[in-house]
Amino acid sequence: MDRITLVRGDITTLQVDAIVNAANSSLLGGGGVDGAIHVAAGPDLLKECRLLGGCEPGEAKVTSGYRLPARWVIHAVGPIWRGGRAGEEETLRDCYRHALMRAVELRAASIAFPSISTGLYGYPVERAARVAVQEVRRHLAESPLPEQVTFVAFDDETYEAYRGLLEA
Ligand code: ADP
Repeated sequence: MDRITLVRGDITTLQVDAIVNAANSSLLGGGGVDGAIHVAAGPDLLKECRLLGGCEPGEAKVTSGYRLPARWVIHAVGPIWRGGRAGEEETLRDCYRHALMRAVELRAASIAFPSISTGLYGYPVERAARVAVQEVRRHLAESPLPEQVTFVAFDDETYEAYRGLLEA
C-alpha cells in the first residue's frame, strides 16, 4: 500500500494525527499556512507556542492541536530562500527530517505536510518538492511510523510539482 498521498486543499481541515506548520523562528504566528493554523486552532495554540522559546531553522517543535481536527501541530522552520547558496537545501532537508522524528516520538500514525518555505520564504516550488519527497521516502524506507504521509498542495503549481515527482 502506498504510504504517501497528495491532496489539494487546506491543511487545517485534515483529520490526521499531526499537521506540520511552516512556522517562523519566533513560533509566534505569521502569514500563510501559519496564520491559518493559528486561526483554526484558537488562541491556546499561541499560548503554548510562547513557552517554547522559538525554534531554529531546520528544527521542529511540537504543540497540541487544540481546536484543529489534528491532535498535534509540529512546527518546523524552513529556510528563507537567498538564491540557493546559503545552505537552504540542507536546512529544508533538516526540517522534514526533524518533523518526521517528532512524529515518531509522538507515535503518530498519520502526518500532513504543507509545502514548507515555498510561500513567503520564496523557495522555488519544484526544488522544494524534490527535497520533501526525497526526505519522506528516505524516512519511510527506514521507519514504520508514520504509517501515512500526506502532502497538502494549496495551489496548482505545487500540486503539479508533487504529482510529477510522486508518479516517477
Ligand atoms: P513559508 O513562510 O514557509 O514560505 P507559507 O505559509 O508562506 O510558508 O507558504 C508555504 C506553503 O503553504 C505555500 O505553498 C502556501 O500556498 C501554502 N499554504 C498557505 N495556506 C495553506 C493552508 N491553509 N493549507 C495548506 N497550505 C497552505
